[in-house]
Amino acid sequence: MNLISYSSEINNDNKKSFIDSIDTFIFDCDGVLWIADTIVPGAIETLNYLRHTLGKKILFVTNNSTKTRQQFQDKIKSFGIECFIDEVYGSSYGAAIYLNQINFPKDSKKVFIIGEYGLEKELNDQNFKTIKEINKLKDGLDSVQNTVIDKDIGAVIVGMDTQLTFQKATYAHMCIKEIEGCLFIATNPDSSYPVKDGKTLPGAGSIVSMIQTSTQVKPITIGKPETLLLDVILKKDNLDPKRTLFVGDRLDTDIAFAFNGGIKSLLVLTGISQLSEINNIDSKINPNFYTNTIADLLPSNN
Ligand SMILES: [Mg+2]
Repeated sequence: MNLISYSSEINNDNKKSFIDSIDTFIFDCDGVLWIADTIVPGAIETLNYLRHTLGKKILFVTNNSTKTRQQFQDKIKSFGIECFIDEVYGSSYGAAIYLNQINFPKDSKKVFIIGEYGLEKELNDQNFKTIKEINKLKDGLDSVQNTVIDKDIGAVIVGMDTQLTFQKATYAHMCIKEIEGCLFIATNPDSSYPVKDGKTLPGAGSIVSMIQTSTQVKPITIGKPETLLLDVILKKDNLDPKRTLFVGDRLDTDIAFAFNGGIKSLLVLTGISQLSEINNIDSKINPNFYTNTIADLLPSNN
């Protein structure tokens, strides 16, 4: 990954020209708009200012594959943030739109899912036939090796799945190995999944790794920091990449996502990545811009 040479801090001198140079603001949410269950002070006012006072386009992005766009919209609104369903992009919705964009033959082929309700619902809403539940076999290799796959499966999509079983993994493995042309798609590469009290669970990426290791096939990955979700967004909303900004709190996912996808990036320091990680010799990637909090985009009083 190449370095962006230097990150500029947003200040009173450059703020107006910076905001004027952007038509569409795409937001990562946790760490930017809220932190765990608490809204970032000024976030609502900032979004209202960008949306209503300046007429900017606002979009929200999440790598989380377990929720539908509807569920994610509900969550955003629960913080008091104005949000419309067409402004929400999750990795499951991105996977469904990706299949549409590559003209996946939905009339003749089915999709096998390792994932939860959000993934199944987004695919079904785009009229894809999905298989999620498989007949439970008895434990043991003698039983599992007799797994019979549906040869009409044209894609395996893997996301976060708290009901993962060896048998589901076997089914996915067999589809990818035995059906010619079967796609292997990962909703998102996150290694872990943050839960309460600073704890984590194995994330979608850890399940993807299992299937990738067993099949030795590299998946097509939709979510951050890969660029497919961004490609889907730019294409679907017909955006000019030069006038589109991603606002995030993580260098290795959010800022890499913007960099890899050819749009501008703004790092806010309310989440994971720290000021000490940028603009120095050890920096793996620098954002185009940085600022302490999203609320810094509001007009200053002086
Ligand atoms: Mg974040």
